Amino acid sequence: MLQLDQVQILQGGFTLQADLQVPPGSRVAVIGPSGAGKSTLLGAVAGFVPVPCGSILWQGQTITTHSPAARPLSILFQDNNLFPHLSALDNVALGIRPALRLTAPERARVHDALARVGLEGLDTRRPAALSGGQQSRVALARLLLQRKPLVLLDEPFSALGPGLKAEMLALVAEICAETGAMLLMVTHDIADARAIADQTILVADGHARGPFATEDLLENPPETLRAYLGTADRIP
Ligand code: ADP
Ligand code: MG
Repeated sequence: MLQLDQVQILQGGFTLQADLQVPPGSRVAVIGPSGAGKSTLLGAVAGFVPVPCGSILWQGQTITTHSPAARPLSILFQDNNLFPHLSALDNVALGIRPALRLTAPERARVHDALARVGLEGLDTRRPAALSGGQQSRVALARLLLQRKPLVLLDEPFSALGPGLKAEMLALVAEICAETGAMLLMVTHDIADARAIADQTILVADGHARGPFATEDLLENPPETLRAYLGTADRIP
């Protein structure tokens, strides 16, 4: 269970309030207008954005002041997830060994993760020598290897075409199902929310609300969501 207990997040002059609970094993989409605070919300959970009021709890324990590295989570951003000067193998290995001196069993685990995402044989390539889809797979292999119980994705794969994006999201869902991880995924694409998130948090007007059942929310959208999606009354 992830709890944001009477949380107030400050980012420059921007304020976001959140008072919500996400049940174990949930896959949650985070949607809302541009600039509403979706990345700020994930940043607060990840520990990059300070939380001056309220508490963030994971499994009942506060993590509000823990450093990002001490939190039980992996985070993937839209881009810049890879280090350009490192090989695919080293980019993945960073997930378990920041100093990159791997033991033999660790090296085997890295190779397994690369194979799992379909990158067998490409381990010595640097990101520049990989396609966009292959780069996303490297980032996913790292996520897979870390096996953290909470996975945060901030508009991932939006640089990919729709087919590849769907493939990556399916892989994310598969990884989370396998590890039992909770997923919070920012997306501006309602189809993504429908495809992989049974629950949705709505960020608008300075508040993060929910999680709501995704289908219910889309069938009966509140005014802010309607305005954002630009639909009169129904969401296709
Ligand atoms: P979203 O991800 O929903 O598009 P963000 O969380 O990135 O929105 O931003 C929410 C608000 O916080 C915006 O008004 C933005 O201008 C502001 N903001 C974001 N990052 C910073 C920052 N580092 N310093 C000051 N203000 C910021
Ligand atoms: Mg954002």
